[in-house]
Amino acid sequence: MRTPAGTECPYFYGDYYRGKNVEECRLIGHVPPPRNWTRDLCAVCPVPGISRANSCEFMILTPTVHRGVLGVGKKVTITAYCRKANAVVKVPEIGCGICHPIGLFGNSNKTG
Ligand code: SF4
Repeated sequence: MRTPAGTECPYFYGDYYRGKNVEECRLIGHVPPPRNWTRDLCAVCPVPGISRANSCEFMILTPTVHRGVLGVGKKVTITAYCRKANAVVKVPEIGCGICHPIGLFGNSNKTG
């Protein structure tokens, strides 16, 4: 679904049907402030780019919200873990390399 920032994100949910205005991030979820989701975070979140580059079903993304000082430096950082390799994925856009071995010029396709 398209986020308020205009990017496609598999974790964004918006319900605007019949005057509703429900929006949530199903990756960050409902956590208390200051680590809670707000719609402006979508503009500084790497998840849409990661999802475009690598849609591996085994990779688990864990977000952390950083609010910065007075809103400066606000960002979302992501750590990735592969359930198949049982290892941290250093570059989530590329993957762990188990399903799709990483070649000389990076990953050979868009998954894994
Ligand atoms: S904060 Fe990131 S993961 Fe959450 S809906 Fe926005 S773009 Fe997607």
